[in-house]
Amino acid sequence: MEKFTRRLGGKLGIGISLLGFFVLFLGWNGAASFGDLRQQFPYLLSGGLVGLGLIILGAAMLVTESLREQRAEMIGALNALRAAVERQGSAGGGGDPRLLMPAAGPGQVVAARLSFHTPSCRLVQGQVGLRVLDIDDALAEGLDPCRICDPTALPAVEEPYATPRRAPRRATTG
Ligand SMILES: [Zn+2]
Repeated sequence: MEKFTRRLGGKLGIGISLLGFFVLFLGWNGAASFGDLRQQFPYLLSGGLVGLGLIILGAAMLVTESLREQRAEMIGALNALRAAVERQGSAGGGGDPRLLMPAAGPGQVVAARLSFHTPSCRLVQGQVGLRVLDIDDALAEGLDPCRICDPTALPAVEEPYATPRRAPRRATTG
């Protein structure tokens, strides 16, 4: 019954209000059929009070229903917003990269399948299957340094060999 009332609350409110007006009309009509005020009085009293009461009740139901709809709408919007934020966070769009990235120490880079990057490079955000390794190891594996984040510019901890050269095969564009 509670659910039924909620679902039909709006329509029921309108119906009750209309019924109130109808009762008002009946009371007025009944009163008008008598010339004597003392005979009119019961009609006006009952018709008027009941009609007014019904109108107020109906209006209250309408207001309640509209508030409930607004609240449900707002809750829905909030849920959608939260879902969007969570989705963006898990995609790495605005989230903490450390949540997705294996911890990279100084002088280490994040290696994808064909290239390696600084841990903060946007190209590796949200990617799975990333490895953390030293720059020298990445170069030794034949991985290309990313042209956007330029991981070879990272300060290396130890340099047993010469400073890693920048990828000679790829010309930088722009
Ligand atoms: Zn990169």
